[in-house]
Amino acid sequence: MAGKLYLVPTPIGNLGDISRRTAETLEGADFIAAEDTRVTVKLLNHLELRKPMVTYHRHNCGAAGPAILRRIEAGESCALVTDAGTPAISDPGEELVALCAAAGVEVEAIPGPCALTVALSVSGLPTARFTFEGFLPLNKKNRRAQLDGLRTEERTMIFYEAPHKLRSTLEDLSETFGPDRPMAVCRELTKLHEEVVRLTVGEAVERYAAQEPRGEFVLVVGGRPPQAEEPDEDRALERVEQLRREGMALKAAAAQAAEEFGVKKRTLYNRALEGGRQDE
Ligand code: SAM
Repeated sequence: MAGKLYLVPTPIGNLGDISRRTAETLEGADFIAAEDTRVTVKLLNHLELRKPMVTYHRHNCGAAGPAILRRIEAGESCALVTDAGTPAISDPGEELVALCAAAGVEVEAIPGPCALTVALSVSGLPTARFTFEGFLPLNKKNRRAQLDGLRTEERTMIFYEAPHKLRSTLEDLSETFGPDRPMAVCRELTKLHEEVVRLTVGEAVERYAAQEPRGEFVLVVGGRPPQAEEPDEDRALERVEQLRREGMALKAAAAQAAEEFGVKKRTLYNRALEGGRQDE
């Protein structure tokens, strides 16, 4: 009979967050697949456990995934852990879960620490509807496309970010949502120096221009307030102009801005033409 894959969350800073079930699952597993065995061995030492380990990370998952699946199919149980938090959430695991699911192997997720839910719950921003954006792409074009797609987002948005990229990301958020949008900067959650600052995006830009970002960050940004009945044609028109300045053809710019602002493409196109931008 096939074994099982367990997704085992580990603390995002506070060892007190190891649940009894997490410890029991690690103890009961035949082997552990770890993102970095040097990190996981510290956790196992803390729990006074010794277990066979294999590595499973972004750079070896193509080969390691099928090898782990074969062992599970042969009857072993595997506990998947990452360096911190919930496996498969901006962490290795997504492909292994898909692989096991496709092979009909049982996958069981143990609930536990996850930076995004900790940040959202403490943010003070609406929690009923939210979108998790993970790390924004590094590639400029993809990053811009992802942010542009969020301009009219009404749900609360959650971003992961590394300290050395925080400043430029805050500037991108300010450009996208405007400096007055409320947000929460959640730093070092569950750790000794945990800090949750609730402010506007513009204030966050200023704060971290004056102070070196250190530690781990989750950024929670309020969604756009629901709009009045009339779609905002003037702002959509400004957006067309911006896209034109960036080199986009008028038709494509009108189509993109219409989509982003929920206005009619034809009306926007005609208004842009009337405005004298007839160089199509
Ligand atoms: N899978 C993990 C989870 O569920 O929490 C996330 C892993 S991802 C590679 C790491 C990112 O999570 C960090 O760059 C940061 O944005 C966020 N993060 C992790 N621990 C954190 C903490 N203690 N405080 C704030 N953010 C944290």
